[in-house]
Amino acid sequence: MSTDPVSADFPICSAKGCRAAAVWVLAWNNPKLHTPERRKTWLACEEHREHLSKFLGVRGFLKDVVTLGEWEGRASGEGRGSAADG
Ligand SMILES: [Zn+2]
Repeated sequence: MSTDPVSADFPICSAKGCRAAAVWVLAWNNPKLHTPERRKTWLACEEHREHLSKFLGVRGFLKDVVTLGEWEGRASGEGRGSAADG
């Protein structure tokens, strides 16, 4: 699966068993696995945002929590030209 969940037609929450529409993007980075500028993303519905944020937060992985719309705006606005991530 190389498909970016954020750009899926119907992004859904990343919480296990949840099929709710995603509202939030949690950007995270595991320093043991990823270079510092790398961002992995999880999606969260309103209900699971806090749960997932906490999960990443206690591990020190969480970098950013933004709305899906804001994240998409950023991604298209940066224009880094890197399609290799993921
Ligand atoms: Zn959810």
